[in-house]
Amino acid sequence: MDRGHSGAPGQTGGGGSSETDRLAPVLRFLGAARTVTGSRFLVDTSRARVLVDCGLFQGLKDLRLRNWEPFPVDARSIHAVLLTHAHLDHSGYLPALVKQGFAGSIFCTANTLALCRILLPDSGRLQEEDATYANRKGFSKHVPALPLYTEADAERAIGSFRAVPFDAAVEVAPGVRATFTRAGHILGSASVRIAMEDRRVEDVLFSGDLGRPHHPVLLPPEPPGRCGTLLVESTYGGRRHDEATSETVLADAIVRTAERGGAVVIPAFAVDRTEVLLLALRRLEAAGRIPHLPVYVDSPMALASMRVYERAVAVGDPEIRPELRGQGNPFDPGDLIEVRDVAASKAIHDAKLPLIIVSASGMATGGRVLHHLARRLPDPRSAIVLVGYQAAGTRGRSLLEGAPALKLLGRYVPVRAEIVDAGGFSVHADEREILDWLAQAPAPPRVAFAIHGEPEASAALQRALARERGWTVVVPRDGERVQLD
Ligand SMILES: [Zn+2]
Repeated sequence: MDRGHSGAPGQTGGGGSSETDRLAPVLRFLGAARTVTGSRFLVDTSRARVLVDCGLFQGLKDLRLRNWEPFPVDARSIHAVLLTHAHLDHSGYLPALVKQGFAGSIFCTANTLALCRILLPDSGRLQEEDATYANRKGFSKHVPALPLYTEADAERAIGSFRAVPFDAAVEVAPGVRATFTRAGHILGSASVRIAMEDRRVEDVLFSGDLGRPHHPVLLPPEPPGRCGTLLVESTYGGRRHDEATSETVLADAIVRTAERGGAVVIPAFAVDRTEVLLLALRRLEAAGRIPHLPVYVDSPMALASMRVYERAVAVGDPEIRPELRGQGNPFDPGDLIEVRDVAASKAIHDAKLPLIIVSASGMATGGRVLHHLARRLPDPRSAIVLVGYQAAGTRGRSLLEGAPALKLLGRYVPVRAEIVDAGGFSVHADEREILDWLAQAPAPPRVAFAIHGEPEASAALQRALARERGWTVVVPRDGERVQLD
């Protein structure tokens, strides 16, 4: 339970220990412990070393700096990576891992691979842009500033991906079999169960990010199977979503903004949230609850992801709700304005009002939405609608907390627009939904770890599980290691 570096053979990894002296099996928490980003969990068995998720840290600067620390074990010592889904806080460190010598396979579902082909090269491009910007402004401690990885590194990482089907046990490393089951969070998302050959070790189940039972596009998460150790996400521990309220909050905000003749800016996560939001806007308009307004989707990544969703709907992918399968494009009622190039994006600044702009990133940490915020935040006619989880340290969180000004593109901008919290559009299950999912488990795990949550949220889920089920639940420390046998 120590933080490592005891020098025991094999425990610190990469330090010259041979495969055979590894004290197995051990689980290590290398991220997303008492925080929501940087998902990385390491499993050492007697024969193999497997990493589950390999995400970037995002949000507060102290967290982001962790992306630059050496990876806690030698990348070359890892046999395989199992990726639960495409979001960058789960996948975004993979190109750096490959750059550091990881030579194994990255296992995930086919739709996760399709989305990673879009997200990872884009992330590499952003890393390169950040480094160029730092060099131009001269604010990097390193001269010249280097990107964490490049677009080319990301493309190389994609070459190591192996798509696996849902619900099939696949040998991913010597003596380790993994099964991916539907998690309903975004397209391709999965919970991952690991079975080890090691004697006396029960399966380990990683929930991954869990979706919501009433997702308008995706089928709900499959029930969790039997396991000895469970890692369950706790983003919304202690909290409940209210979809009906959120939809009303969104509709009312649009109506008010339209009456004022302003712009509705919706920072949206490029993958999945954009699709869900567009469906909600269609529904609200059809019900006469909002006026017909032009909807600009200003994010090349969101548009590329939408193509993956459209294809899944068109081919009747088993992740898609049966009532949508085989339909035309359910996300575009025909009047969507797809904005790809930068000039068209800037032209929205002068477009006729009122209008709706959906743009990434969802927590306003980067991307084109920054330009729209810089333009619309000072305008009291406009509204900013926040639809997903806003991590500590992000601009989205600052807006929710009532910041009077926001730093954007190097300048402070006054906040005079209406700020609206419609958090019920979240992609994550709330506490009740997590508890209901876990209630379907055939037997309690020996121990459960509440991960992927800020400390209060993880502690809240821990209390709820102890109270309702009498389960042993631990909120692990970052870097903590536990024996699995
Ligand atoms: Zn996610």
